[in-house]
Amino acid sequence: MSKTKVSVVKVEKPEGNAQFMAGKYVRNEEDVKKIKAAVAEAVELAIGSLDTIIKKGDIVLIKPNLAFQAPPESFAVVDPRTIEAVVSYIKENSKAAKVVVGDNPSLGMHVGRAKPAFKDSKMEEAAKLGGADEVIYFDETEVVPVEVEGAVVFKHATVFKPFLDADVVINLPKMKVHLAGTVTLGLKNWNGIIPNCHPNDQQQGAHRIDLGQKMADLYKIRKADLVIVDSVIGMEGQGPHAGSPIEMNLIVAGTDTVAVDSVAASIMGFQPMEIPAIRCAGVEGLGEIDLEKIDVVGNSIESVMKHFKRPNGDPIGMYNGLTCAMQQTCPGCFVNVRGALDSFALSGIDMKTFLEKNGEVIVISGGVPDFEPELCKDKDIFICGDCWELFPSVDKVKEGAALARSVTYYPGCAPVYIFAQLNADLQKLAAACYTFPCPK
Ligand code: SF4
Repeated sequence: MSKTKVSVVKVEKPEGNAQFMAGKYVRNEEDVKKIKAAVAEAVELAIGSLDTIIKKGDIVLIKPNLAFQAPPESFAVVDPRTIEAVVSYIKENSKAAKVVVGDNPSLGMHVGRAKPAFKDSKMEEAAKLGGADEVIYFDETEVVPVEVEGAVVFKHATVFKPFLDADVVINLPKMKVHLAGTVTLGLKNWNGIIPNCHPNDQQQGAHRIDLGQKMADLYKIRKADLVIVDSVIGMEGQGPHAGSPIEMNLIVAGTDTVAVDSVAASIMGFQPMEIPAIRCAGVEGLGEIDLEKIDVVGNSIESVMKHFKRPNGDPIGMYNGLTCAMQQTCPGCFVNVRGALDSFALSGIDMKTFLEKNGEVIVISGGVPDFEPELCKDKDIFICGDCWELFPSVDKVKEGAALARSVTYYPGCAPVYIFAQLNADLQKLAAACYTFPCPK
């Protein structure tokens, strides 16, 4: 049996990268052409011709990673130049009747809406420049209930209809690290095929320690026909939203998402088995995780590999005066509190000064057996998630809440939105401290 192919192709260095990485996105014709040439080479090395997956008259959906309502300079979303290059390549080289681009962001500032996210990320403009027939805001479309056959944790999905209706689906993730998922590539990109339902369910649901299994389950709904990883400028460090850009100038492509993710993760300096989504999907046999059984064509992994800075998902002990009481918790709350603190750090507000002016802030989640309620007296406290009420320490938390100056609850399991909402609420407290005498 022939090995599954994954192509790794270098992009001739785009001129605009330097300015882009310095904080200003620039699009120029030549750069789009360079990326398009690499996309063409990568796709052709992986599958020969688009005709092998796209028939005359097909509707082709490109599903990018529009993770947040964020500008291109955030590096949290697919590079608009890559969107334009992929759309234009498919339009010119296939017999598709329609090429559409659609997604639903995860969170945006709080709960993302696709329309402003497509605009702010410049993806809409890029898709149109590439000749897309339509940009579909998934959250404005119908959803279809789907019982996920063979699912382990995510058994009942609600899936955006255009994703199910398309004849061909092209997965266009970005090469990024991720606090909860270690990396986010093709498998993780399927979180955008289901809606945000706050505080629980669908995008937030099973986004806990079982996130990798959730992504493997979502992949069972429908596999991509082709995966093209935007690896022109990746994100390392505190991804998926607060990391730093890393210049790669690569396109990685193939038809087996597990294999493509395994190769892309290896290029980033990770073992495929370290990545929960790849491990769960690979071990279940949903695709090839064993690099020995993948035919890597174009460039070898070793020749292009860069060790991405790993994300640190631990919020404890980051700041003196910001106490995280999270003794029995899981990553669904734990890493998203860290994400909120990372976002706060990006706001430019000095946490140390804020805490000195405001006084101690306490963040609680899960079980807190060693917690002293007195600690909360006259402090601002933030209680994350649902499960704290299920632990024997529930009364300690309630007692602490009764003594606190202010209490903010973030319901949900997992309350993924806290990385945006807790950040916003901390900023609100900080603003009060900077402009008025502190309420203390
Ligand atoms: S509420 Fe509890 S189980 Fe749910 S994500 Fe938070 S810590 Fe994990």
